[in-house]
Amino acid sequence: MALCNICGMMYAEDDADDRKIHADEHKKLAKGVLPYKVREFIKAAGFAVAHNDGGLTRLQNSENREIGKLVVAFSWWNRALSQGIPTKEFDAYMKAHLQFADALVSRKGEAEARIAIKKWERYAG
Ligand SMILES: [Zn+2]
Repeated sequence: MALCNICGMMYAEDDADDRKIHADEHKKLAKGVLPYKVREFIKAAGFAVAHNDGGLTRLQNSENREIGKLVVAFSWWNRALSQGIPTKEFDAYMKAHLQFADALVSRKGEAEARIAIKKWERYAG
């Protein structure tokens, strides 16, 4: 079984049905649908700020640090969608941009990650 770090789905890479279900999920995401854990994080962050009751501090844990980078990458994808990026580029774009977000956060490999996303810079308006 493989765990996809973009959609969060567990799937068997050697199972044709699983691969199809997974590919169909990515087609939806490529059109702008957000994965469940991204939607939940956005709501939690929004309410945490709106309530101003320490919720942001409670959100700061290691699992949410990964989701945080995913939220940033989906935000970049949404901007690229609005700039007309072809949806077939979703997987490659997300992989490269997750690595870029990782590099920014870890302060390691930023120059290489920046080169990897350069081909999409026209969609970053
Ligand atoms: Zn996936």
